Amino acid sequence: MNDQNRSQKLKELLPMHPPQKYKPIGVCIYCGNTTNLSDEHIIPLGLGGRMELPKASCSVCSEKTSFFEMICLRTMYGPLRQLYGLPSRRKKKLPKKLPLKVKYKSTDDWTEVLVDQVDYPFLLTFPYFSMPNLITGKQTLYRKGAATNKLWIRGASAYENFFDHLQRLTLELQVHSIMPEAKAQVQEFCQLLAKIGHSFAVAELGYGNFKPLLLGLIVDKELSNCANFIGSLDIDEKASRNIHELSIYEDHQRNYIIVRMRFLAILGTPTYHVVVGQKN
Ligand SMILES: [Zn+2]
Repeated sequence: MNDQNRSQKLKELLPMHPPQKYKPIGVCIYCGNTTNLSDEHIIPLGLGGRMELPKASCSVCSEKTSFFEMICLRTMYGPLRQLYGLPSRRKKKLPKKLPLKVKYKSTDDWTEVLVDQVDYPFLLTFPYFSMPNLITGKQTLYRKGAATNKLWIRGASAYENFFDHLQRLTLELQVHSIMPEAKAQVQEFCQLLAKIGHSFAVAELGYGNFKPLLLGLIVDKELSNCANFIGSLDIDEKASRNIHELSIYEDHQRNYIIVRMRFLAILGTPTYHVVVGQKN
């Protein structure tokens, strides 16, 4: 099966990750607050993640992290929301119809029609970056803040082959052609990577057992030094057998703690490296 086919029947490929619960933390892992704590999903449920860190986020921080998480899920991972049952949980908040670009005749300009969300042909998107400056020792001048000019993109449809889906929709809408669109919210995506990295490091190493470097990026959207901490391998990678991959390693020379992460790795997505902290 080639990569194209792999990414099409998502339902068969992407079962929900098995649940895993860490020990309760009892303090907000972002600001240190000890009241109004809720459980933190390390990888969002909307991406099929089920690793939980109980009593780990206060209501203020939880609101901030949910904000960028929802932006990423809505714009970049729409079809996954259907797979993981999110629409039924948050039915009221979801837009029921989404604008799709179509042409009625080949000579027409592109115009928009509203399509039911369930029928919306989506492109899954992952930004590529260079490796974090703190790992390579380089200073990139061209990448200030969170930005990229390169994306990993695959056609995605929850329940059928992507191209069958496009063909069916073309017939149903009685149009000549359809242009599925990819959107990448790179700033919010970097915040999400930082959140996943930080919460995973706390889960694995314990709260207070390392010096965190990403709190400003997560809570206050301080993205100006993003390239120092967050990056990826800028290469085409083979699909893995795992849905998600999350692991932690140390840069012994500089005492950095780094989280390696890959979401939907089974589709051949990019691997991210996030410098989350320094050893105490
Ligand atoms: Zn907090």
